[in-house]
Amino acid sequence: MYVAACLCVVAGCAGVSPTAHGLVDIAPGVEDPLGLVYLGNGGWIISHGPDTVLTGPLFSNPGAVHAAVLSIRSDTAEVDRYMSPYDLAGAKAILVGHAHYDHLMDVPRTAVIHAPSARIVASRTAANLLGGWSGVADRVDLAEEYAGDQERPGRWMAYGGVRIMPLRSHHGPHYASYTLYPGTVERPRADEPTWATEWVDGETYAFLIDFLGAAGAVEFRVFYQDAVAEPPYGFAPDALIAERAVDVAILVPSTFEQVPWHPEALIDNLRPRYVLLGHWEDFFSPVSEPMKPSPMTDHAEFDRRLRRVFGGDWWRPARWTEFRFGPG
Ligand SMILES: [Zn+2]
Repeated sequence: MYVAACLCVVAGCAGVSPTAHGLVDIAPGVEDPLGLVYLGNGGWIISHGPDTVLTGPLFSNPGAVHAAVLSIRSDTAEVDRYMSPYDLAGAKAILVGHAHYDHLMDVPRTAVIHAPSARIVASRTAANLLGGWSGVADRVDLAEEYAGDQERPGRWMAYGGVRIMPLRSHHGPHYASYTLYPGTVERPRADEPTWATEWVDGETYAFLIDFLGAAGAVEFRVFYQDAVAEPPYGFAPDALIAERAVDVAILVPSTFEQVPWHPEALIDNLRPRYVLLGHWEDFFSPVSEPMKPSPMTDHAEFDRRLRRVFGGDWWRPARWTEFRFGPG
């Protein structure tokens, strides 16, 4: 990744700034809005009424050289510092789309201390990486038993007033058709992974997240991905979207050039009302430093392509930005 960053300097990759910070309230006065908070990287808090879902956050942010040549582990003090402001005691689930360290390494501390009631929805590889050392492996609900795709709806995972459907996906390459840290883990680990290379991606999923009303009707539908995927990987089932399109789609811009038709294909598949961009920043910088865009991606070109096919509102949020959306 250090090499990649250097290449970016040479190539002069386009920089971008966050398009939102603080509070973005699209539903002023709405009693029961859909709320989202961007925690940076793949991390979001998504809530409606008493139902809260979290997606795998990262606050440890080891530097690029450190991650490449030294051992890494979760910086639990940083996790506590940045998770403590949020009340996640009743959070129902933590969604992890793939098992790279920037999506899974800080999940054990988050789950044990901050979201003690949450189930962890993740792949078999993620469950095996969490193994015997983390204290949370028995809280993993395996995504593959419920997963669907464009042609075949999967099964819903029910967590109170929220239901979740994993969507079979695939981790796109990071650069030049090369994917960092590929692989699966077939047996539970007894010890904590210590190298970035040990946090292999494993089976990869996107997710549909439905928040249900009192009568069981869908009040809000959210799509979440934590890695760019080649279409139709990660697509929601056409039959479900025909019944109800997505309210908010969380899409990843970083490395979009590595697959064809991202984001166009997902916009066509999901027909979202709003789009939020996540995992857009350079996560080798500490959380305390200003955000800058991930290297190697032409973010201005991503924006241009998104605008070409999507006429609705969209944002690239600064960390901690809070959104409120009303019903469609
Ligand atoms: Zn990844």
